[in-house]
Amino acid sequence: MFVSQPTLTAAAALLTTWWELWLVVVCGVAAAATAPLVVSYTHRTRAPTATQRRRLAAAGVPPDRVRLLAAGDAVGAFAAGLSPRVGRVFVTTALCAELDDTEVAAVACHEYGHLARRHVPLRLGVPTVFAAAWVAGTQVVPQSPFLVGLALLVPTIVLSVVAARWTEFDADGFARTRTGGEALANALGHLAAAGHVVDGGRLSRHPSLDGRIGRLRRDHGE
Ligand SMILES: [Zn+2]
Repeated sequence: MFVSQPTLTAAAALLTTWWELWLVVVCGVAAAATAPLVVSYTHRTRAPTATQRRRLAAAGVPPDRVRLLAAGDAVGAFAAGLSPRVGRVFVTTALCAELDDTEVAAVACHEYGHLARRHVPLRLGVPTVFAAAWVAGTQVVPQSPFLVGLALLVPTIVLSVVAARWTEFDADGFARTRTGGEALANALGHLAAAGHVVDGGRLSRHPSLDGRIGRLRRDHGE
């Protein structure tokens, strides 16, 4: 592919002029990529029990991708890393105490879905698009770089909420096809009843609990 000298010069100028912005983007990607290692080094983790490993395998989650995290009373689970091959799912021991092994496997399957469906790179893409759009905008309106960034902020926030909510439903769908909707719906119901999961309202990056549970149960019955 032929790239003209002026184009290369302009691209180099954009890279060097906006190096702080690109540095933030690179640091964000590096932090996401190294998160599994960082969590493993900074927290006590252990492998799932034999029963949990069997339940995970039955749910289509490679057991060696899952670590139990000793985090006191914290009840939660999360995916770390950019892909299922190098990423990890962390499930707190307190969450395992709240739910039965089938429900834990369903929650881990939802989190593994975030890795398998590449949701972390997708979510990182939103601020990256913002950075690129900001730089492009300053080429069109060079006299007001701050206003260009400000104008892009609202659509970026909306886009990040839409992306976050879509990835939650998509991970639920991933878990539903592997474990059935009932196990994850039950897990969410138990966690909500115990006050560990709360609805964040209209502006939350998470979809409503009722909406998630309704989808899981509705599709389960079809
Ligand atoms: Zn999720």
